[in-house]
Amino acid sequence: MTKSVLREERTFMMVKPDGVRRGLAGEIIRRIEQRGLKIIACSLAAPKRAEIDKHYPKDAKWIRRVGEKTLSTFAQYNINPKKEIGTDDIEKIGRIVREWLLDYMTSGPVLKMVIEGVHAIDMVRKLCGTTIPLAAELGSIRGDFSADSPIAAQSAMRAIHNLVHASENIDEANHEIKLWFKSADLHSYRRVEEELMI
Ligand code: ADP
Ligand code: MG
Repeated sequence: MTKSVLREERTFMMVKPDGVRRGLAGEIIRRIEQRGLKIIACSLAAPKRAEIDKHYPKDAKWIRRVGEKTLSTFAQYNINPKKEIGTDDIEKIGRIVREWLLDYMTSGPVLKMVIEGVHAIDMVRKLCGTTIPLAAELGSIRGDFSADSPIAAQSAMRAIHNLVHASENIDEANHEIKLWFKSADLHSYRRVEEELMI
């Protein structure tokens, strides 16, 4: 099998401020290592608002996706978005939630990491679990350590606290790795499992 078929990838992951403050960094690293994934960069950082602003997408598609998710939570719980946050416009809501996200991600230190491995992007997303902890699969980081819900978050006008961030696709991974690390800080070594798989 060739290297391209094996899909060796690099992805970016962060333990968010709530994960660091809950002392979950070690547990999260343990799960990454246990799965056979390789941490090739890892450090604690206090992100500036401008860095988080560059980190999360700003395009209309992403903003609308966040806005739609928020509106559907309001609809599910019969909450009037105009009364709650002053608008029912999808894009405006998306932008409001993005500001909540910047507040959350600058509320304390984060642990930033680059992880390498076969199908690393999908594998790390799977380790994290889906975005909303209440709905995340048991066995995933978000499912095992949090029960935060969009309604709790939105009624407190804050982002959903879901412990970790992980790149969703190769474009996000490339952008985020470049944003948070110099290439000289990415290390190269072989894990024993690689001898068994390749
Ligand atoms: P993920 O982190 O799973 O990739 P997104 O990229 O959709 O999820 O959103 C980025 C982050 O924004 C989420 O992890 C969460 O902290 C926050 N967030 C997303 N949607 C909402 C929402 N509707 N209300 C509050 N916070 C949200
Ligand atoms: Mg995302």
